[in-house]
Amino acid sequence: MRILIAEDEPRISRFVARGLTANGYSPTVVEDGIAALDYATSGEFDLLVLDVGLPRMDGFTVLRTLRSMGHDIPIVVVTARDSLDDTLHGLEGGADDYLTKPFRFEELLARIRLRARERHSEPAPESSDTLTLGDFALDLRTRIATCGSGDERTELELSSREFALAVMFLEHPNQVLSREQLLTHVWGYDYDGASNVVDVYLRYLRKKLGAERFVTVRGIGYKLVDPAA
Ligand code: CA
Repeated sequence: MRILIAEDEPRISRFVARGLTANGYSPTVVEDGIAALDYATSGEFDLLVLDVGLPRMDGFTVLRTLRSMGHDIPIVVVTARDSLDDTLHGLEGGADDYLTKPFRFEELLARIRLRARERHSEPAPESSDTLTLGDFALDLRTRIATCGSGDERTELELSSREFALAVMFLEHPNQVLSREQLLTHVWGYDYDGASNVVDVYLRYLRKKLGAERFVTVRGIGYKLVDPAA
């Protein structure tokens, strides 16, 4: 799936492009509204992530122009929180969804997946609703984690941050994920990089799911393993 990102802040476009690539999408970044319009009308993209505050032509104008030209490319509008009213107005101009800055990558990803699904009107395959590694399973709909087998099988509810972290680990089993990767992916680009919030949440996950599942790789980060493997 090819995704066009119209965003003039390199910090944000890099964050989004990196995350999309890691999730199997092909992102292309443009930095102004004229280029956004140009690329979006090329027919080469499946979805547009559109910042409102763009140089040369603002996002709303891009949106209205695209729709008035009859283009039905799904559009997720990204806006500053203090201009939310404008954004809601913008949705009437033909946006499919919106996000306010700062946003977590998971929030954007969820919206993109939803749009992609609607567009192809494909029901989600059963397997994509649950992520598993060994006896650890996570239901993406209910956010309930299960681990252990037989009589030892337990079900646990995860908080939204714990859930996002668990998803990240389950999507990259047996791979070392750095604190920076986890922080960017789960907390967003605006989070203080010096924070130990990742370690704090790792403690929560270990307590709920079993410490042996999360291996500390000194000086780098953590990896999720199947202790029975
Ligand atoms: Ca901007």
